[in-house]
Amino acid sequence: MRDREESCVRHLWRSYAVYNKKRVGEFGMKTIGVLTSGGDAPGMNAAIRAVVRAGLKQGMKVIGIRRGYSGLIHGDMIEMNARSVSDIIQRGGTMLYTARCDEFRYEEGLQKAKKVCQDVGIEGIVTIGGDGSFRGAADLSARGIPCVGVPGTIDNDITSTEYTIGYDTAMNTAVEMVDKLRDTAQSHDRCSVVEVMGRRAGHIALNTGIACGATFILVPEVPFSIDDIAQKMKQSQSTGKQHFIIVVAEGVGNVSEIAKEIEEKTGIEARASILGHVQRGGTPTVRDRVVASEMGYYAVELLSKGIGNRVVCMKDSKIVDYDIQEALGMKKSIDKRLYQIALDISF
Ligand code: ADP
Repeated sequence: MRDREESCVRHLWRSYAVYNKKRVGEFGMKTIGVLTSGGDAPGMNAAIRAVVRAGLKQGMKVIGIRRGYSGLIHGDMIEMNARSVSDIIQRGGTMLYTARCDEFRYEEGLQKAKKVCQDVGIEGIVTIGGDGSFRGAADLSARGIPCVGVPGTIDNDITSTEYTIGYDTAMNTAVEMVDKLRDTAQSHDRCSVVEVMGRRAGHIALNTGIACGATFILVPEVPFSIDDIAQKMKQSQSTGKQHFIIVVAEGVGNVSEIAKEIEEKTGIEARASILGHVQRGGTPTVRDRVVASEMGYYAVELLSKGIGNRVVCMKDSKIVDYDIQEALGMKKSIDKRLYQIALDISF
């Protein structure tokens, strides 16, 4: 295994040396890497495609690094050409695979990664991932390898950006699933209590809930009481409502216990469902493909100017960039007005 990795690095180093002689660009980076890190998200492939094609267009050599920072440390990488990213824009997951890598959190791991970059000739990296991956990107930037982060996570929980790649697809998947659960809740006069993803944030839950006409939406950002939920359900029942949907963000707590408590307090049969990882897969929506393409392209533009330690974000529907540390310190909340609208129109 180790021999194979070393030979892979040697091969890249040789081809880098040959390439360097033929290089055409007059400034900026000659060789960049691209990796996906942390949780996967639909649209990551579209972002990889944009990075590879934009890099090639700039006359750069683009190295695809497999399995995130782990692949970087171990030299698991491959040179990409235009055809390497053909036929991937419509696919979920990530063709470069993704991983979590503890070693990268420590100086030794960072130094190993830096050495591989120097050996292979990687002068800058586009990291597609979440906040954790951006922390790693900042650490590597501080050690002389400029990195640019591109936000890829279904949870939309990166505080510096209005939008993260994968969010729209995940919400559409969740809505499709909740619609199916509604059919069976309706047939049995039941309450369906559905947990959606989002880590510690309620963005997916809020939007899925409003799109599915949920009676109640539980998010970690807003306190709630089961008594209030039960009262609202009974009130609606008295006006002829026979089945109920309650959407719960995963950061709220145990969905089975919530369902049990609702059943005890209302007398209405309540069933818990956890949608889980199905929300992370599937064909990316138009929005995810377009935003991924824009953000990937933008990241390469930054590297081509020699700019690193930045994260690409969306602000007021425009693509912008921030210093990584500044971005990590930003705050974002859920859309309180949307939450109120959801409450006001579901009874
Ligand atoms: P995400 O990027 O989706 O938030 P993680 O938090 O799991 O996912 O981070 C992904 C990877 O980024 C980690 O496995 C690790 O390699 C790297 N990473 C996370 N936090 C740090 C940190 N503080 N310093 C350096 N690298 C980090």
